[in-house]
Amino acid sequence: MSIKTVKEIIGQLKSPNEADRILIEKAYEMATKAHEGHVRYSGEPYMTHVASVAYHLASIGMGPRTISAGLLHDTIEDTDITAEDIEREFGAEILFLVEGVTKLSSVRYYGTDRHNESLRKLFVATSQDLRVLVIKLVDRLHNIQTLEFVPREKQLRIARETLEIYVPVAHRLGIGRLRKELEDLAFPYVFPEEYKRVCALLEQKTGKSEQILERERKILQKRLADSGYTQFNTSYRVKGLYSLYQKLKRREWDIENIYDLLAMRVVVESIEDCYRTLGIIHEMWRPLPKRVKDYIAFPKPNGYQSLHTTVATQHGTILEIQIRTQKMHHEAEYGVASHIIYKDETASDSGSGSSSWFGNLIPSLFRPFSRRSSVVNDKIKKVTKDRPHKEKIPLWISQIGDNYSADKASGAEFIEDARKDFFSNRIFVFTPIGDVVDLPVGATPIDFAYAIHSEIGDHISGVKVNKKLVQLDTELQNGDIVEVETKKTAKPTQKWLLIAKTSLAKRRIKSALLGQTDGHH
Ligand code: MN
Repeated sequence: MSIKTVKEIIGQLKSPNEADRILIEKAYEMATKAHEGHVRYSGEPYMTHVASVAYHLASIGMGPRTISAGLLHDTIEDTDITAEDIEREFGAEILFLVEGVTKLSSVRYYGTDRHNESLRKLFVATSQDLRVLVIKLVDRLHNIQTLEFVPREKQLRIARETLEIYVPVAHRLGIGRLRKELEDLAFPYVFPEEYKRVCALLEQKTGKSEQILERERKILQKRLADSGYTQFNTSYRVKGLYSLYQKLKRREWDIENIYDLLAMRVVVESIEDCYRTLGIIHEMWRPLPKRVKDYIAFPKPNGYQSLHTTVATQHGTILEIQIRTQKMHHEAEYGVASHIIYKDETASDSGSGSSSWFGNLIPSLFRPFSRRSSVVNDKIKKVTKDRPHKEKIPLWISQIGDNYSADKASGAEFIEDARKDFFSNRIFVFTPIGDVVDLPVGATPIDFAYAIHSEIGDHISGVKVNKKLVQLDTELQNGDIVEVETKKTAKPTQKWLLIAKTSLAKRRIKSALLGQTDGHH
């Protein structure tokens, strides 16, 4: 793969102005210099990675600042470029995005399912801004596209993390396209045997599916044209392997029971046309009973809209047909990236105000927890204040972090949880190796130490937050990296009781203090 040029990246923007061009060119230049001499596992220059991420971001309609952050997303972590450099050259907002992506790379999956739900929440919470999440998802997509070059022992962790964390997040954001690519690429690494089995079944069942689909498509196109349609688009797909695997598991591996292996998509101009097209199709091809689904009148929780039906063609092909408008199509493919936020973000704007509803969702995140991004936080606060609350948050956004396959009840529970309690009362901090510790707001390093282990709590001698020595009573902030130093001789004191916030820590300190007294008798 060759390196995407800055021209190709800018070429993906719909109507870039001069300021947009200059910004992206400058970011491209800085990234090129910063990564000079670095190579990927594939042997390619590192720039292929960041340029490809930026190109992808541009192609899904993200704005120039997000694209620039995409170009710079690995600089702080992997090169000599500092946060100060980025702020000086590109301003607080781009720094905020780059730091967000950098922070997310410490959210890691360690192979236990127990914490996945917290990890997903953490992932969303840490990002603070949906643009950070979108950059991270696109970053992961390129990494997984090139996973074959990565050392064996790393491959499995990355692929599992993709299925457990990234795919559900992409799904909740409604970004169907990214989700499908991520899951189908990760699938063979995580479940190699199942992957082969699914491939074989699909091959045996659908055989030359491309030719069949092409034949049926021509018939449908002709019929729609005969009915007077001029503005419509048809396309088809074979079901994604990973989603087929999920379905096969639920249906005892009986592929005969799966009706959406082959799907045809019809994109028409209006909602009225959607229903008319459904009628035309049902007149031509026999619909299967109970397979008509009206997701236009009743959208899916993640916002997805379409009419679905399953038909048997005159050749006996079973086809799922999805009918939707252009707008619905774009939203199904790009989800959150397709509307609300980024449409008119251009470099010459003074501020995008894109985070208002996101801020409403997770209010605690917008306390100025990152000292450096306080400019951005102030802006977000202002924007948040100006906007009415509830209706600005689409339901499907408020369910971010919710379990992938959660039913409605647990979804509603999650929202309650998220709004009232979870994010507003909890902070997430990291151990130096990236494990996540979840603590109440106001917690101190003492609470952190006891949350890890009572032995560590009992012998704290010092603590570093974000690599700087701090006092034991320092209030921890979301995203902090906390490192506790212990000494055998260090012991809890009365003062610790006042500093500790969690009942766990208080209880342990009390019992340790008692133990010390007892020891004298
Ligand atoms: Mn990267």
